[in-house]
Amino acid sequence: MSAWPWHDAGRWAALLRGDECPLCQTPAAEAHVCDLAFSRVIAPERACLAGYVCLIARRHVVEWRDLSADDGAALMSEIRRVSAAVADLTSATKMNILSLGNVVPHLHTHICPRRPNDRFEGRALDPGDVDRVYTDDTHTVFVAALRQRLAAASSWRRR
Ligand SMILES: [Zn+2]
Repeated sequence: MSAWPWHDAGRWAALLRGDECPLCQTPAAEAHVCDLAFSRVIAPERACLAGYVCLIARRHVVEWRDLSADDGAALMSEIRRVSAAVADLTSATKMNILSLGNVVPHLHTHICPRRPNDRFEGRALDPGDVDRVYTDDTHTVFVAALRQRLAAASSWRRR
Protein backbone atom coordinates (compact mmCIF):
# COMPACT_ATOMS: atom_id res chain seq x y z
CA MET A 1 0.00 0.00 0.00
CA SER A 2 1.24 3.44 -0.85
CA ALA A 3 2.06 5.85 1.96
CA TRP A 4 0.33 8.51 -0.15
CA PRO A 5 -2.98 8.90 1.75
CA TRP A 6 -5.09 9.79 -1.31
CA HIS A 7 -5.28 6.07 -2.24
CA ASP A 8 -7.26 5.24 0.92
CA ALA A 9 -10.50 7.23 0.70
CA GLY A 10 -11.50 6.46 4.29
CA ARG A 11 -8.16 7.49 5.73
CA TRP A 12 -8.04 10.63 3.59
CA ALA A 13 -11.57 11.64 4.69
CA ALA A 14 -10.56 11.13 8.35
CA LEU A 15 -7.46 13.28 7.88
CA LEU A 16 -9.55 16.02 6.23
CA ARG A 17 -11.93 15.98 9.23
CA GLY A 18 -8.94 16.20 11.56
CA ASP A 19 -9.38 12.76 13.09
CA GLU A 20 -5.98 11.67 14.40
CA CYS A 21 -4.39 14.63 12.62
CA PRO A 22 -0.70 14.62 13.56
CA LEU A 23 -0.46 18.42 13.33
CA CYS A 24 -3.28 18.87 15.86
CA GLN A 25 -1.05 17.12 18.40
CA THR A 26 1.31 18.92 20.76
CA PRO A 27 4.75 19.21 19.15
CA ALA A 28 7.91 17.91 20.78
CA ALA A 29 9.18 20.50 23.24
CA GLU A 30 12.60 20.81 21.60
CA ALA A 31 10.97 21.64 18.25
CA HIS A 32 8.43 24.15 19.58
CA VAL A 33 9.58 27.74 19.07
CA CYS A 34 6.48 29.72 20.05
CA ASP A 35 2.79 30.24 19.39
CA LEU A 36 1.73 33.27 17.37
CA ALA A 37 -1.86 34.51 17.07
CA PHE A 38 -2.73 32.17 14.17
CA SER A 39 0.19 29.75 13.94
CA ARG A 40 2.35 27.48 16.04
CA VAL A 41 6.01 27.80 15.03
CA ILE A 42 8.17 24.69 15.11
CA ALA A 43 11.78 24.03 14.11
CA PRO A 44 12.46 20.26 14.20
CA GLU A 45 16.02 19.09 14.77
CA ARG A 46 15.74 16.55 11.95
CA ALA A 47 14.80 18.68 8.97
CA CYS A 48 15.32 19.19 5.25
CA LEU A 49 17.75 22.06 5.91
CA ALA A 50 19.27 23.80 8.93
CA GLY A 51 17.04 26.76 9.72
CA TYR A 52 13.90 25.00 8.47
CA VAL A 53 10.77 26.27 10.25
CA CYS A 54 7.13 25.26 9.89
CA LEU A 55 4.12 27.41 10.74
CA ILE A 56 1.14 25.23 11.65
CA ALA A 57 -2.39 26.61 11.96
CA ARG A 58 -3.38 26.41 15.63
CA ARG A 59 -6.79 24.97 14.70
CA HIS A 60 -7.59 22.27 12.17
CA VAL A 61 -8.13 23.90 8.79
CA VAL A 62 -7.27 22.30 5.43
CA GLU A 63 -7.12 24.90 2.67
CA TRP A 64 -6.21 28.57 2.35
CA ARG A 65 -9.68 29.07 0.85
CA ASP A 66 -11.20 27.91 4.15
CA LEU A 67 -9.74 30.91 5.99
CA SER A 68 -11.63 34.12 6.65
CA ALA A 69 -10.06 37.22 5.13
CA ASP A 70 -8.79 38.23 8.59
CA ASP A 71 -7.24 34.81 9.29
CA GLY A 72 -5.64 34.76 5.83
CA ALA A 73 -4.13 38.19 6.44
CA ALA A 74 -2.91 37.12 9.89
CA LEU A 75 -1.24 34.02 8.45
CA MET A 76 0.46 35.99 5.67
CA SER A 77 1.73 38.49 8.23
CA GLU A 78 3.14 35.68 10.39
CA ILE A 79 4.81 34.03 7.37
CA ARG A 80 6.46 37.38 6.53
CA ARG A 81 7.64 37.88 10.14
CA VAL A 82 9.03 34.39 10.58
CA SER A 83 10.68 34.20 7.15
CA ALA A 84 12.40 37.54 7.76
CA ALA A 85 13.71 36.33 11.13
CA VAL A 86 14.93 33.03 9.64
CA ALA A 87 16.59 34.83 6.72
CA ASP A 88 18.44 37.13 9.15
CA LEU A 89 19.51 34.32 11.48
CA THR A 90 20.70 31.97 8.72
CA SER A 91 22.10 34.48 6.19
CA ALA A 92 20.02 32.64 3.58
CA THR A 93 20.71 33.29 -0.08
CA LYS A 94 17.03 32.69 -0.95
CA MET A 95 13.94 31.83 1.07
CA ASN A 96 11.64 29.04 -0.16
CA ILE A 97 8.09 29.08 1.22
CA LEU A 98 5.81 26.13 0.53
CA SER A 99 2.21 25.37 1.45
CA LEU A 100 1.49 21.80 0.35
CA GLY A 101 -0.52 19.53 2.67
CA ASN A 102 -0.55 16.52 0.32
CA VAL A 103 0.28 14.05 3.07
CA VAL A 104 -1.07 15.86 6.15
CA PRO A 105 -4.06 18.03 5.14
CA HIS A 106 -3.79 20.58 7.95
CA LEU A 107 -2.75 24.05 6.80
CA HIS A 108 0.97 24.49 7.39
CA THR A 109 3.71 26.48 5.73
CA HIS A 110 7.30 25.32 5.25
CA ILE A 111 9.89 28.09 5.52
CA CYS A 112 13.22 26.95 4.12
CA PRO A 113 16.42 29.00 3.96
CA ARG A 114 18.44 28.10 0.84
CA ARG A 115 22.19 28.44 0.46
CA PRO A 116 24.72 27.57 -2.23
CA ASN A 117 25.56 23.84 -2.20
CA ASP A 118 22.64 22.90 0.05
CA ARG A 119 21.13 19.37 -0.15
CA PHE A 120 18.61 20.42 -2.81
CA GLU A 121 20.73 22.55 -5.10
CA GLY A 122 19.60 22.15 -8.69
CA ARG A 123 16.28 20.47 -7.85
CA ALA A 124 13.01 21.11 -6.08
CA LEU A 125 13.18 21.20 -2.31
CA ASP A 126 11.33 18.38 -0.52
CA PRO A 127 10.47 19.38 3.07
CA GLY A 128 9.72 15.72 3.85
CA ASP A 129 13.29 14.67 2.99
CA VAL A 130 14.76 15.11 6.46
CA ASP A 131 18.20 14.40 7.83
CA ARG A 132 20.53 15.40 10.65
CA VAL A 133 21.22 18.95 9.47
CA TYR A 134 22.54 20.42 12.73
CA THR A 135 25.82 19.77 14.49
CA ASP A 136 26.60 20.05 18.20
CA ASP A 137 24.24 22.54 19.85
CA THR A 138 23.44 24.56 16.71
CA HIS A 139 19.76 23.52 16.75
CA THR A 140 19.33 24.68 20.36
CA VAL A 141 21.08 27.96 19.55
CA PHE A 142 18.92 28.50 16.44
CA VAL A 143 15.64 27.82 18.28
CA ALA A 144 16.59 30.14 21.15
CA ALA A 145 17.60 32.94 18.76
CA LEU A 146 14.41 32.56 16.70
CA ARG A 147 12.26 32.50 19.85
CA GLN A 148 13.94 35.68 21.07
CA ARG A 149 13.59 37.38 17.67
CA LEU A 150 9.87 36.56 17.43
CA ALA A 151 9.20 37.62 21.03
CA ALA A 152 10.92 40.94 20.37
CA ALA A 153 8.82 41.45 17.25
CA SER A 154 5.66 40.64 19.23
CA SER A 155 6.40 43.15 21.99
CA TRP A 156 7.32 45.79 19.41
CA ARG A 157 3.99 45.26 17.65
CA ARG A 158 2.00 45.65 20.88
CA ARG A 159 3.33 49.16 21.52
ZN1 LIG B 1 -5.14 19.04 12.19
